[in-house]
Amino acid sequence: FAINMNQLQLEDELGRGAYGTVKKVLHKPTNVAMAMKEIRLELDETKLNAIIMELDILHRASHPSIVEFYGAFFIESCVYYCMEYMDAGSLDKLYGAGVPEHVLARIVGSMVRGLKFLKDELQIIHRDVKPTNVLVNRKGEIKLCDFGVSGQLEKSLAKTNIGCQSYMAPERIKGESQNSLTTYTVSSDVWSLGLATLEIALGRYPYPPETYSNVFAQLTAIVHGDPPELPEVGEDGKPGYSSEARQWVAGCLVKRPEERWSYKELLDHSFLVNDAHRDVDMRGWVAHALAWRESDLAQQREAAASAETNGH
Ligand code: ATP
Ligand code: MG
Repeated sequence: FAINMNQLQLEDELGRGAYGTVKKVLHKPTNVAMAMKEIRLELDETKLNAIIMELDILHRASHPSIVEFYGAFFIESCVYYCMEYMDAGSLDKLYGAGVPEHVLARIVGSMVRGLKFLKDELQIIHRDVKPTNVLVNRKGEIKLCDFGVSGQLEKSLAKTNIGCQSYMAPERIKGESQNSLTTYTVSSDVWSLGLATLEIALGRYPYPPETYSNVFAQLTAIVHGDPPELPEVGEDGKPGYSSEARQWVAGCLVKRPEERWSYKELLDHSFLVNDAHRDVDMRGWVAHALAWRESDLAQQREAAASAETNGH
């Protein structure tokens, strides 16, 4: 069945990205909570229709590690895209000072299975693997969203800025000046997966702004520097990472794309094989992460309020 705006009751805003806003909505006929992404595009009706048609293959993207797609429609020059609402939000807002190794393995295992499914079953390369596109719910499930299904949509998104945190593989950064279409292969996603894994583990983007004061310095480090790695010894008293975890991340962050590990190699490595035999309380971790986030937000509000009373 097709979804349209009249069936939706708009609720809270969930977040904003470079291309639009995501709102929580209630689909009244079915009483299902959904997340609706609004993407503003200056396109004619034919192109908008082409995008809606291309998005349709998402109805086949049914997998435990992929956010469910409910439908898309357009009004004037906006595309509205309705997907499963994930009630704990995206990982960037949950990882705090970093997640413990067992939770990390569970999260990245789910990411690899989702990516492998997209590639093997739908011939889709994700193209935008990063913590904001990894969603979590209170049941402890981890699912990917925002993968590149629609060529027309990709072309229409105005790439005005590359942002201050790049998850692009070295070959893509180099290839930007040439033909980026030929340089993007599935192994570019594996690099982004490696960087995202590091960020989730450490609680910060692996090329920190303190060291790389501008985007150019950061991109230069990605292309010419040694790849970042998981520390063997943890910072300020925290435990370090096992050699399995470190090897696995290094397998993602091989600079030559041909030598980077495949999804099969990543899944068959002991870091993820061991995870399958372990009990990990993901539900408990999510509850804990949400509570941490609540108190962090409260602190920020307090600081803002006191700054105001002090006349700033
Ligand atoms: P970018 O624009 O660079 O891709 P982004 O991924 O953060 O960044 P959006 O995809 O527009 O931007 O999403 C904005 C925010 O909305 C996300 O960071 C996430 O926290 C939230 N969000 C997106 N989809 C959902 C969903 N299905 N359920 C719950 N929250 C969501
Ligand atoms: Mg996103």
